[in-house]
Amino acid sequence: MAPIEVKQYINGEFVSSDDNKTFDIFSPYSGDCVARGMLIDANMVREVADLFAVSEATTVDVDKAVAAAQAALPAWKALSPQQRGKPLAKLAQMITDADAELAQLDALSLGRPVSTYFDGYYAATHFRYFSEAAYPVGTSSLNTPGFMNISVRQPYGVCAAIIPWNAPLVFLSKKLAPALAAGNTMVLKTSEKAPLSSDRVAAMLGEAGFPPGVVNIVHGHGPVSGQAISSHMQIRALSFTGSVRTGRAIQTAAAASNFKHLTFELGGKSPALVFADADLDHAARDTQHSIFFHSGQTCMANSRIYVQKSAAAAFVDKFNALAAARKLGDPSQQETTSGPQADKAQYETVMRYVEEGKKTGQMVETGASLPAKNGDLFVQPVVFLQQPEDSKIMKEEVFGPVVCINTFETEEEALKIANDTEYGLYAAVYTKDLDRAMRVAKGLESGMVGVNCTSPTGAWDMPFGGYKQSGVGRESFLLSMDDWLEQKAVFIRVEGLDEAGTGNTTLGR
Ligand code: NAD
Repeated sequence: MAPIEVKQYINGEFVSSDDNKTFDIFSPYSGDCVARGMLIDANMVREVADLFAVSEATTVDVDKAVAAAQAALPAWKALSPQQRGKPLAKLAQMITDADAELAQLDALSLGRPVSTYFDGYYAATHFRYFSEAAYPVGTSSLNTPGFMNISVRQPYGVCAAIIPWNAPLVFLSKKLAPALAAGNTMVLKTSEKAPLSSDRVAAMLGEAGFPPGVVNIVHGHGPVSGQAISSHMQIRALSFTGSVRTGRAIQTAAAASNFKHLTFELGGKSPALVFADADLDHAARDTQHSIFFHSGQTCMANSRIYVQKSAAAAFVDKFNALAAARKLGDPSQQETTSGPQADKAQYETVMRYVEEGKKTGQMVETGASLPAKNGDLFVQPVVFLQQPEDSKIMKEEVFGPVVCINTFETEEEALKIANDTEYGLYAAVYTKDLDRAMRVAKGLESGMVGVNCTSPTGAWDMPFGGYKQSGVGRESFLLSMDDWLEQKAVFIRVEGLDEAGTGNTTLGR
């Protein structure tokens, strides 16, 4: 049976790529090339055996998507925020209605357990919020004699987003919703590892009411279509979520082309500090969820845990018991709490770090059992103790279910080692001493800090983003519009206003 092609969505139509090339996606659980039957019910795989092949975007396809976005721009940006909000609101409802199917698509292509799937809810919430929140305002000023000055916020024009694979619809919605609400038209590139749920959303866009060309979704690999987007001369703003390495390549390409406005959400090596007076049960429960949720494949996972020495043994016992209880298995089934790594490359990278970690520190067997079948790409939760602070595993992002637990004696020492990293996405502190919690929260070099909570805890209206190499800029309900709007100052001379000052227009008076 011929594979069903996941096509590029350009100018409101699904089209094959310019050179008709496709690539396959393999289920990290079964190892099979993914099949449509698995979407409906895992037991129907044998009966409905259509396969997906994904169309691979070329630079010509990116040019076509940009041209469609350019053509759609004048009419889209001329609409009122309320008019632009209508398709956003409809899309929110359509995503909600398709939630179970979207969860299965991500389970299929990247092994994300459906029991951990909140992405449909997250995406719908974003589209719904920005359907009503897009009334950007500028400022006004009477501080220049003889002038009534204003500033206005305007869309950049054609913009782009490049998203990772670990939570596709979280990032698709986080970027598309504010960008479109602001009046931009968009080209979004999915990750080559997980295009299926974004493709399903692409199929909703026409019915939701987006005019052709307003949203274009391309699929393909970074060095081709990603690079073409980063260096495109007509794209004026680009928001990227992914690794530091790719962020650097995008920034280089943007600088070498047109200095497009960039927002980056990058990697992490997040610390959690557990003081001896903390509720250890609570701290152990939260921190193991943070690192083992989605098999360690989250940017903010607390991959370094520092426990005050007197509480370390008790904490490690509680933590290991929780790790051992995780249910590794078929991601499409509700009882599964941990799926496989997203693909073979991801699995091999994690295992390389585990081997490296065995050489430098002590590895604890957590005892979680691998699934009886289809276990090839699963990594059992790994706990390392006593890793040297300068070891590779303490410094680099593993992006797998691997945690290092070290100890400290004093608050000062805890802050010093927690901050000794090039990352700064999320940090957590567990203590019952409020003064200490506040001192530590202030001292942590991190864009987000949890007090008696850890990642993925967040809030819709709080800035999301990182210090240091974990990112540039912030996203949130209240801040994301800023990523997608230019500012313009308009100087208006008013005859008869403030007579004494009229006539002198020198800047800075
Ligand atoms: P990645 O950087 O490998 O890929 C991300 C995207 O960039 C993909 O769409 C890929 O095709 C594209 N890409 C790759 N090379 C490119 C290039 N040269 N030019 C343009 N685009 C290119 O990251 P990933 O493996 O998909 O995701 C994991 C990484 O993302 C981790 O480092 C993780 O910490 C980070 N992440 C960060 C956040 C955050 O909010 N800070 C959230 C999720 C993931």
